[in-house]
Amino acid sequence: MSEAETATGEGARNFIRDIVRADVEAGRTGTVVTRFPPEPNGYLHIGHAKSICLNFGIAEEFGGRCHLRFDDTNPAKEEHEYIESIKKDVRWLGFDWGRHLYFASDYFERLYEWAEHLIGEGKAYVDDLSPDEIREYRGTLTEAGRNSPYRERGAEENLDLFRRMRAGEFTEATRVLRAKIDMASGNINLRDPVIYRILRAAHPRTGDSWRIYPTYDFAHGQSDAIEGVTHSLCTLEFEDHRPLYDWLAANLPVPSRPKQYEFSRLNLSHTVLSKRRLIELVEDGHVKGWDDPRMPTLGGLRRRGFPAAAIRDFAGRIGVTKSGNVVEMALLEHCARQLLNKIAMRRSAVLRPLKVIIENYPEGKTEELDAINNPEDAAAGTRAVPFSREIYIERDDFMEAPPKKFFRLAPGREVRLRYAYFITCRETVKNGAGEVTELICTYDPETRGGNAADGRKVKATLHWVSAAHAIGAEARLYDHLFTQAEPGADGDLVDDLNDDSLTVLTNCRLEPALSDASPGQPIQFERQGYFCLDADSTPARLVFNRTVGLRDTWAKIQAKARA
Ligand code: ATP
Ligand code: MG
Repeated sequence: MSEAETATGEGARNFIRDIVRADVEAGRTGTVVTRFPPEPNGYLHIGHAKSICLNFGIAEEFGGRCHLRFDDTNPAKEEHEYIESIKKDVRWLGFDWGRHLYFASDYFERLYEWAEHLIGEGKAYVDDLSPDEIREYRGTLTEAGRNSPYRERGAEENLDLFRRMRAGEFTEATRVLRAKIDMASGNINLRDPVIYRILRAAHPRTGDSWRIYPTYDFAHGQSDAIEGVTHSLCTLEFEDHRPLYDWLAANLPVPSRPKQYEFSRLNLSHTVLSKRRLIELVEDGHVKGWDDPRMPTLGGLRRRGFPAAAIRDFAGRIGVTKSGNVVEMALLEHCARQLLNKIAMRRSAVLRPLKVIIENYPEGKTEELDAINNPEDAAAGTRAVPFSREIYIERDDFMEAPPKKFFRLAPGREVRLRYAYFITCRETVKNGAGEVTELICTYDPETRGGNAADGRKVKATLHWVSAAHAIGAEARLYDHLFTQAEPGADGDLVDDLNDDSLTVLTNCRLEPALSDASPGQPIQFERQGYFCLDADSTPARLVFNRTVGLRDTWAKIQAKARA
């Protein structure tokens, strides 16, 4: 897939690719196998996109494969809806797992056998301590743990109890199975970690057939081994789990020995990337849903109009390291802008309309003027735009008493209407409150197409829409969901919510060509930004989301950093 290569291919070297390359070149790795292992307990966000692009990108680069594996070991939290949305999002990002779709729950029987194997080897035991006692016995970072009084149970008794756990003889939290490693280990994960617990919950895939469920640590590495994963890439919070990952692989008859490598999570400014916190935002009504265009979920970004290729480009640019930092939202927007500039059709849309009457233009006349669809792409051609006596311009493009640096329309001043004519403002019409409601202008017929025959210049070019031909629409303009770069850093997350993250403009006027805009099609509203049709649109009422404005704040941040 060539589009993805620009973002995740050769251009984006990182330490993990270097490790994989070295393994391949030295013959330690045959087919490179990676996996993306989401827990189906929420929707994917841009942080997951980093992991997806890394895992699928490496598999692609080295001619291997990447599995999509649902880490569905926790029966209480998982839902079918999440599984379907995750598949949709990974596909939308441009990746394909082929026939390699897996579920950790498919391995429950094998994992169970391996647990019995550990018991047989004297390397696991059933513990009757309560969860609180287990915690207390575990010790702290500075203090060694203590052995459970049940630690020296014989293999036979352990096996009997473990089978009865499986049979559902005991209630939740009365017993667990623990690996017998080292209660004095400096790594708390090695202090006899729990590998099975009793849970009386139905599982979406295995139903009521299990009364005990493996923990993440016991399931994850073994799932990797079953699938022949060669490089198991995860985020840094699992670094301390790696010794356990390796211990289990060394002590079980697993069919392969994957290796785990860790990289830092993506943090993005002015938003949060944690499923739990995102769920709170939806449930507490701070956003309209999972795919609210202000959300950093892939569904939200898609709806907002971010192309998948821009997200892949972003993932390539942020790189993969072990150091934690916060990436500027402006970089993601920059990636979108760069791509949209190349592919978006230009259209004219007046978001806050002000009526202009061109008094010397014949009443009832309509002209079709030629407008360029995309100056970045000659093949996109031109379209005809209707012009007539009454048009709309942007309210902000007129000032009755303009300050020094305002070059757009003002009383007595001449400006260009793009692709059309020069007009001069002759008069303003006001309402009872003294607000300007209309402008009376004249046009110069010798400026058709937007250039004066006598070569005279004007300082501004405005976009416009013919009033009689305009389509009414709603535009939704977005700003950061949070006012702070690191929301919740010094207090409550909710206090940092941006009250102005959404501006709804209900009285927009669009050029008629926009009536056949389709969702997912990027459009530049000239001088206003990149937009896309929102799913809330009906034939009677079009709704457009602004993906990003035209001004590149990332370029500014970069310039400041260089200065
Ligand atoms: P969250 O903290 O949002 O709940 P998670 O880690 O619990 O995320 P999983 O479904 O377990 O979500 O994640 C699947 C994969 O995506 C894991 O390998 C995880 O390390 C990776 N991942 C999750 N969040 C990020 C992030 N912000 N940056 C990079 N990778 C991430
Ligand atoms: Mg997780």
